[in-house]
Amino acid sequence: MMIQTQAWVVPWLSSLSSSVFACLLSLAVAPVVTAACTIAWWRRNNWRRHPFSKCLRLFVDTPHANHPDSWIAVAMEINIQYRRVDKLSTRTSSTTQLVATDSWLLQVGPYSMAAIPLADTLVVIEGAINNTLDTRVSRAGNPQLLKLRTRCVTKKTGDITFRLSSNLLSELERKLVIPILNTGQVVVQKSLADQFLEVFVKTVNQNPPVTDTLQDGSADSCIGCMTEIANVKLERRCEMVEVVGERAPGRCLACSCRPMWCLTCMSKWFAARQDQNEPETWLSSRAPCPTCRSPFCLLDVRILTPKSGSSAAAS
Ligand SMILES: [Zn+2]
Ligand SMILES: [Zn+2]
Ligand SMILES: [Zn+2]
Repeated sequence: MMIQTQAWVVPWLSSLSSSVFACLLSLAVAPVVTAACTIAWWRRNNWRRHPFSKCLRLFVDTPHANHPDSWIAVAMEINIQYRRVDKLSTRTSSTTQLVATDSWLLQVGPYSMAAIPLADTLVVIEGAINNTLDTRVSRAGNPQLLKLRTRCVTKKTGDITFRLSSNLLSELERKLVIPILNTGQVVVQKSLADQFLEVFVKTVNQNPPVTDTLQDGSADSCIGCMTEIANVKLERRCEMVEVVGERAPGRCLACSCRPMWCLTCMSKWFAARQDQNEPETWLSSRAPCPTCRSPFCLLDVRILTPKSGSSAAAS
């Protein structure tokens, strides 16, 4: 293959003295050699000296900590959890990403990674910035940026600092074991979903409860989160029950589904089916029942009380 060179290159090279040429050549080759040596150094003992494996080996159980492959089990656990859809993943700057899996908090940059087990993670709110630069119009208001610092409470690792939108704070909080510290008494703006959940719970608690006639004391788990008990039932209360007939748009219909959802999940279901640009209409709107698709309104959501008479705890 013919290599085309500029006409001035050959005379310029021949005009250079041999020492200058050697100097330029060594400058050009040095980064490549350094990178190759660094990779070879990391690769010895199955990547034992790589910064990622050093970081993960901190969290290996003590009896296996000195085994060269001990970090691989931790890496595989993180890999499996990272593939799940319920992880929290958000870009915290132009080059770094924050990921919270089921049991790990990770900050990933172009050349670095920090990991802390969520069970040992203490998050402190250091301050807040009101995001006035975001010009996108939002009915929920511009989100607040919170300055957070996380620290491992059991191992000596570096702190992870990042900025997170206040809309995502409750999602991060749900994954943590240790409650978030707000030592500076920073006023955190609640996300639209959290504000709606508060109003939803308040409104539903004002509806008359309904007695559970199907269960004998043992309530089912919520099919949405599998952590709370299914404590709400859709029972039409807003108008006269219309069991037979066409489903008229804009009217609630009777629902015969057995209780399968907790109040929090029902609130999320209801909010997700509303016009996200018109949050002021949500309380007066309807959503389809998650199972039979019969429309229901907020007045039809009733707290379930067990047969024995003791009240089911509203989440
Ligand atoms: Zn639930
Ligand atoms: Zn239904
Ligand atoms: Zn209704």
